Amino acid sequence: MKTIKYTFIGPIRQAVTMANLPVKGALKDEQLHVIQEAGILIKDDEIYDIGPYWDLYPEAQSIGAEMVNLKGDFVALPGFIDCHTHICFEGSRAKDYAMRNAGISYLEIAKSGGGIWDTVTQTRKASLDKLAQLTVQRANRHLKDGITTIEVKSGYGLAIEEELKMLKAIKLANENTFADLIPTCLAAHIPPIDYQGTQKDYLNAISEELFPTLRSEGLANRIDAFIEETAFTAEDIQPYFQKAKEMGFDITVHADQFHASGSKVAVNFGAISADHLESSTDKEIELLAKSDTIAVALPGASMGLGVGYTPARKLLDAGASLAIASDWNPGSAPMGDLLMQAAALGTFEKLSNAEVLAGITFRAAAALNLADRGTMEIGKIADLIFFPTDDYREITYQQGRLKPSKIFKRGVEI
Ligand SMILES: [Zn+2]
Repeated sequence: MKTIKYTFIGPIRQAVTMANLPVKGALKDEQLHVIQEAGILIKDDEIYDIGPYWDLYPEAQSIGAEMVNLKGDFVALPGFIDCHTHICFEGSRAKDYAMRNAGISYLEIAKSGGGIWDTVTQTRKASLDKLAQLTVQRANRHLKDGITTIEVKSGYGLAIEEELKMLKAIKLANENTFADLIPTCLAAHIPPIDYQGTQKDYLNAISEELFPTLRSEGLANRIDAFIEETAFTAEDIQPYFQKAKEMGFDITVHADQFHASGSKVAVNFGAISADHLESSTDKEIELLAKSDTIAVALPGASMGLGVGYTPARKLLDAGASLAIASDWNPGSAPMGDLLMQAAALGTFEKLSNAEVLAGITFRAAAALNLADRGTMEIGKIADLIFFPTDDYREITYQQGRLKPSKIFKRGVEI
């Protein structure tokens, strides 16, 4: 018989639970539920109880919990969630970065065969094991920064077998890191230049031949597409998303990055999230605000490309939900420091601490359709991170410099 393991952590100066907050709309710091001198009682991999340390202490003792006494100041938060990354790839695009800074645009580089296609070429050359190994390395770096759940997209294969290789590599990587990797099929990243047929034929082949395998082999529950001039049009993507929806996949969209059009498609298809939105106008903001689609800002892409940020303030004030993700990828967002990027977005878009932290916890969980994490509440998985400070406001104030020094993944300290 398996014995139940209890762990009691505390006393914690501040536990910012992120509980009981709305998924949509603006948030004020005063709305945050902050427990002073808190204790967290873990049962196996779940939060069993959370509250004032000395209130929970007798219970923890009576059930024989292992006591993790914190010495010094700590602020506890639910493990961060990065709901949009492309960390399964081979090769560097430092050359593109230099070209962009020399004045050549992202779209021009893409049109001349550089950009994403360069990464496709290098990723296709890499073995499945090598890709898994690179993904684990990057996931572990994220985990050290307190990111305990990481979405990972395919999209550098752009052929059925190559997309399968990527998604299998992500699955293998997930078995070899403590972080939870959530796979997404982005076979509709850009039209493959070596495909014999039209874009419609390509999308059709993917939906007919790849989608069933994703289901039968449990490789992904999410389908993403890049709707953009250099990628796929809103019109071409309709039957593709239709098929995905019929098969029960969650839909997510790379939307409005350079030109507005993708978010409308996202809302029409009831997508779980619309990501990027740097070029969204008031019209798209209103559409998103009226929908249940989570808007996802990717400040790392704005920094990598030197373009404006997603209108996060406007989205929140209009009533939309806002998650914040790193978009970590070798082209437009090579940094991959989610907390730094979220804090910077907060400065430029005038976001409250609550809005920034919500964007990388429970609102990011919502963008991944995960109900079991993103807050510190009874029954949620015990993904907990501890920052060495006595005031949660230090976290955004230090703009990503302050990292968690203690991390628990599913109740286990790592
Ligand atoms: Zn992306």
